[in-house]
Amino acid sequence: MDKEYIPFTKEMKKTHTILVPNMLPTHFKLVMKVLSGYGYKSELLESSGPEITELGLKYVHNDTCYPALLVIGQFLDAIINRGYDPHKVALILFQTGGGCRASNYISLLRKALKKAGYGYVPVIPLAFNALEKHPGFTLSPSVIYKMIYAVVFGDIIANLKNQCKPYEIYKGDTDNLVEMYTTKITGAIQRDKLFFSKSKRYFKEIADAFAKIPMDKTQSRVKVGVVGEIYVKYSPLGNNNLEHFLQKEGAEVVCPGIIDFFLYCIYANISDYKLYKMKKKLYIPMKIAYKAFKGMQRQLIEAIRSAQIFDVPPTFEHIKKLAEEYISTGAQMGEGWLLPAEMLELSERGVNNIICTQPFGCLPNHIFGKGMMKPLKDKNPHISIVAIDYDPGATRVNQENRIKLMLTNATLQKPKKDEESDSNYITTEQKEMANL
Ligand code: SF4
Repeated sequence: MDKEYIPFTKEMKKTHTILVPNMLPTHFKLVMKVLSGYGYKSELLESSGPEITELGLKYVHNDTCYPALLVIGQFLDAIINRGYDPHKVALILFQTGGGCRASNYISLLRKALKKAGYGYVPVIPLAFNALEKHPGFTLSPSVIYKMIYAVVFGDIIANLKNQCKPYEIYKGDTDNLVEMYTTKITGAIQRDKLFFSKSKRYFKEIADAFAKIPMDKTQSRVKVGVVGEIYVKYSPLGNNNLEHFLQKEGAEVVCPGIIDFFLYCIYANISDYKLYKMKKKLYIPMKIAYKAFKGMQRQLIEAIRSAQIFDVPPTFEHIKKLAEEYISTGAQMGEGWLLPAEMLELSERGVNNIICTQPFGCLPNHIFGKGMMKPLKDKNPHISIVAIDYDPGATRVNQENRIKLMLTNATLQKPKKDEESDSNYITTEQKEMANL
């Protein structure tokens, strides 16, 4: 915690706009709509362009990991180039913490603001263990719970969007439904005090609505899994709009949900106690949180399964079980053991073309991403994993050419009978469930 920081005061709640970096477009829009129901004005930064990297490089040490450089560059770009009044904005940063540089983003951002002459702009850290006091930004447990639910609904919407969009017959159907449910769900979360008890119904309603989109599933699409460091995996700014590029190239994107990352972060505390007898005080609260998140994930999975036409995402427990053959759950820096586990899970679902997004300066993900590729491929020779580096010097053309090569190989190697069997692929978890 910084000893000296600019607090976000109660008065600022009326006068300031909170700027939010765009990591998960669908999810963050839902969270922001929830916050607007409590009187917060916020705006999602959707800017892109070389000036962001340039500002990042100018005000952050060039050794810093790429996500930090981009997030800080995007905030500075908003203040310097995009017309926001620096005296009327505050910045919010989501913090996962942990042993890598993710814990330093807030200090790095404040240092950069100071250096650029904007040291008076308040920075609000959004984290489970935030120790700073910001009187104008106090979230009650029920608001936090609603925000978490908004994120999980973001997961189901993003999942179904990726499964429908490449096959939709009428262009725009999927995006319209995404828009409609973003509004409907946030409205329900804000209005309905008993929303939690109705969440299951809403999950089902969304899955059923997406299932009704007219689709042509006879179209052959290469399924491409996207894993990697959390920011470059999801953020269009971080990964040069990877999702859009893959869809444009005719692929179906399969991107594991953020709820697995939440569960991974929670489980890290449980695992620390089990393995090293550390964090004893956190053990019980984390077990409770773990159970609650698993419950939300179960609802999401059941809704997708009940629609009967979609690929069903696995439970976190299943992903963890897959990892255990290769790596200890004590490996928790960055995305840790979750990264190879997601690759294994994708392959188990028949998604054998995987892009591993790697940001510059990220040692943890180079170890758990690139470093784990050989052991994974040794046992699963059918997986094709392409590590794509994202850094200020990497050219988009080079990244896209490597992905195009992967897609071409996948199309050439995909025998017809495999295409047919893909839709009937049954994972070990689904087999286990069927036998219950
Ligand atoms: S996971 Fe990697 S990129 Fe992300 S904060 Fe840690 S070191 Fe940086």
